[in-house]
Amino acid sequence: MAPITQRLQGKVAIITGGASGIGAATAKLFVEHGAKVIVADVQDEIGQSFCKALGPNDTVLYARCDVTLDSDVKDVVDMAVSKFGRLDIMYNNAGIVGAVDPTTLGSDDENFKRVFEVNVYGAFLGAKHAARVMIPTKKGVILFTASVASVIAGESPHAYTVSKHAVVGLMKNLCVELGQHGIRVNCISPGAITTPLLNNALKIDKSVVDGVLRASSVLKGGLIEVEDIAEAVVYLSSDESRFVSGVNLVVDGGYSTTNLSFT
Ligand code: NAD
Repeated sequence: MAPITQRLQGKVAIITGGASGIGAATAKLFVEHGAKVIVADVQDEIGQSFCKALGPNDTVLYARCDVTLDSDVKDVVDMAVSKFGRLDIMYNNAGIVGAVDPTTLGSDDENFKRVFEVNVYGAFLGAKHAARVMIPTKKGVILFTASVASVIAGESPHAYTVSKHAVVGLMKNLCVELGQHGIRVNCISPGAITTPLLNNALKIDKSVVDGVLRASSVLKGGLIEVEDIAEAVVYLSSDESRFVSGVNLVVDGGYSTTNLSFT
C-alpha cells in the first residue's frame, strides 16, 4: 500500500528489534512517512546492512542495543537526542518466544526468566529511558508489541503468553502515569505472522506455517503480513491518534474472537 501522506514527517523514532520481521517492516514504513529512525537490535550485520539499504545516515541509523541491558537502552535513547535532536516515538518491539513449554508451571525456570527479561524487563527499560527524555518536552509516544497472546491463553508457549499479558499491564500503568506529561502509551498485538520468530518457535517450514495460519484464519483473503502491523504502528505513532492512549490494538483478522486454533 503506497503511503497516503508523510504522516511522521520530522519525527524521530527508535525501533527495538528493528532488524527483522515486524520491526524492520515498521522501520521501512516510518522512513517512507518522513521519520528519522534508529534501528536497535542485537543482529549487528543484518541491522547495519538493512539500515544502509533503507536510507542515508542522516535519516536511518543502526545501534547495537540489547534491550535487557540498562546501559545499552540508555545509550540508544541518548543517541536519538544527540544525532537527531530528540525522541518522539519509542517502539519497544524486540521480543522472543522462548521454549515451547508444556504448561505454565512446567516451564523451565531459566526459560521463564529469560522470556520475562527480554519481553517485559526490556520493554520496561525502553519506556523508562524514553520517558526520561520525553517528559521535559511534554510529548511523546511509547509503544509496545504485545501479541494476540496478550488477550488469549492456552495457544502460544506459556511463559510467552504470561509475558505478553504483563506487557499490556506495563502499558496501562504507564498510560496512567505519563498522560500528565502529554505522553501516549499503547500496545499493538499482532496475530501469528511467519517471521523468523514464529518459524523458529514452531520449528516447521514457512510454507507449512502459512498453510496452518490460512486454515485458522477468520478473515479470508490472505494472511496477516508484517506490513499490516507496521500500518497500525504508524497510526498509533502519528498525530492522527493524538487522543488514543491505553489501548491494546489487536491486529489478528478476528482470530482472538473465535475458538479456532493455529497450534
Ligand atoms: P523477529 O524474530 O523477526 O524479530 C525480532 C527481533 O528482535 C530480532 O531482530 C531480534 O534480533 C531482536 N531481539 C531479540 N532479542 C533482543 C534483545 N535482547 N535486544 C534487542 N533486540 C532483540 O520476530 P517478529 O515476529 O518480528 O517479532 C517482533 C515482536 O512481535 C516480538 O515482540 C514478538 O513477540 C511480537 N509478535 C510476533 C508475532 C509473530 O507471529 N511473528 C505475533 C505476535 C507478536
